[in-house]
Amino acid sequence: MILQAGHRSPKQPGTFFDGPQFASTYTSPGDPSQHQLTYGRFHNPTWTAWEEALGVLEGGIAISFASGMAAIAAVFGVCLKPGDVVVLPSDSYYTTRVVASNWLQTIGIQVRLASTRDNAQAGVLDGASLLLLETPSNPQLELCDIEELVQVSHRGGVHVVVDNTTATAYLQQPLALGADYVVAADTKALTGHSDVVLGHVATADNERASALRTWRTQHGAIPGPMEVWLAHRSLATLPLRLTRQCESAEALARFLGSRPAVQAVYFPGLPNHPGHTIARRQMRGFGSIVSFDLGARARAEAFLQALTLVREATSFGGVHSSAERRARWGGDAISEGFIRFSVGCEAIEDILDDVGNALDVAV
Ligand code: PLP
Repeated sequence: MILQAGHRSPKQPGTFFDGPQFASTYTSPGDPSQHQLTYGRFHNPTWTAWEEALGVLEGGIAISFASGMAAIAAVFGVCLKPGDVVVLPSDSYYTTRVVASNWLQTIGIQVRLASTRDNAQAGVLDGASLLLLETPSNPQLELCDIEELVQVSHRGGVHVVVDNTTATAYLQQPLALGADYVVAADTKALTGHSDVVLGHVATADNERASALRTWRTQHGAIPGPMEVWLAHRSLATLPLRLTRQCESAEALARFLGSRPAVQAVYFPGLPNHPGHTIARRQMRGFGSIVSFDLGARARAEAFLQALTLVREATSFGGVHSSAERRARWGGDAISEGFIRFSVGCEAIEDILDDVGNALDVAV
């Protein structure tokens, strides 16, 4: 279904799906309510096809945004007002916490942080109106139990939004587990070719979807038609890409675990990972990111420099393997030797060769 989603039906003559529609304005005389298309900030047929596909994938109604952060900001915008309390993971993607401290707190929204591991956010929900989960979290790959946290939250009248970026809707379905909203940076594995910055929000509720669309129209956080079209084109291979990436990530995690120079490996597919049982229950696969610790900054830098196939780059989820020393950005409670490795679609033998050689050079 994902492969066909948002495309013309197989019985309909013509192209399989239309090219991007570039339009800032549409010929639309007289009463604007009589026209389906009027202005490019309000609607675009390329978005509509993409959102139809995302809706199938998420099991809800999807609204596309200019980036993952634009999607997260929209959920904050429609859900929170001064005086409210929002609970975030203390180990979430760094910028989500920065937005909370730079913007939400300054307009009188209280921000509480608790770690993803052990469902610790459940302990600080008292009086909250919104809980944001990020599982697996970026970059430490901690997990929490979405269904359990949704149940606790809903009993207390708290809405739940899940940042599903690292897993994608192919590996994990937060709406089916009861979440009120899903947000994702489609910049990552969902589109997977490192060529677009995009995000989306999905919800099963019509009114919430309509509020988010209004937010997008009025704040102008709209995606470009070319980006959306590239994303839609990439979606057809999502299961193929991710199946291979997950398999290779597991092989890499085991390989790293066998190397004495690697002080710790963080991957939900390893039986000793604290979130392994939850991952088995909640996810279709363990994801394409493997994080690990080389113990010291110099060693991590030497490792990255010695790689010849794997690129040193930020971001993750693409078909090309990449890695970075995450502490170079600051903001996360990780060691100076912490590497976030995004496993691509290259042959696993080539990835392991490159990593093995780079480890030999670094140590
Ligand atoms: N959420 C997570 C978990 C991320 O890792 C990122 C980016 O790395 C974002 C949100 C933000 O996405 P974008 O860069 O598309 O704004």
